[in-house]
Amino acid sequence: MSECLFCKFVNHEIPTQVVYEDERAFAFRDINPQAPTHILVVPRQHIENLAAMHTEHESLMGHLLWVCAELARQEGIEAEGYRVVLNTNRAAGQSVYHLHFHLLGGRHMTWPPG
Ligand code: 5GP
Ligand code: ZN
Repeated sequence: MSECLFCKFVNHEIPTQVVYEDERAFAFRDINPQAPTHILVVPRQHIENLAAMHTEHESLMGHLLWVCAELARQEGIEAEGYRVVLNTNRAAGQSVYHLHFHLLGGRHMTWPPG
């Protein structure tokens, strides 16, 4: 996926504020944070979104959620609470088509989301 921005972050072709990486996952701070903590957790592998997920991605998706939980602990937002968001396709507001969990915390959240 040569023209995918998040693939370029994952491959260190474009610098970004990395907070975590391992052999399957990569996490970095959102450029336009919507909360005091706003981290994007992505698979190293290019997957467009949840609609492109297949059964072989099940353990990868579980791993990405584990990374979210670990980072929430490290950020000190676990006790107060945090939100993990996965926007899929246009009506949900997906703007970058490389699957990413938003980890948001550090402020009170309202429901339903906008
Ligand atoms: P989506 O709208 O697809 O769910 O989320 C895309 C997210 O990527 C947005 O929150 C947006 O601020 C973030 N984003 C877009 N471009 C960049 C960038 O160049 N660097 C970083 N760190 N985040 C970006
Ligand atoms: Zn990509």
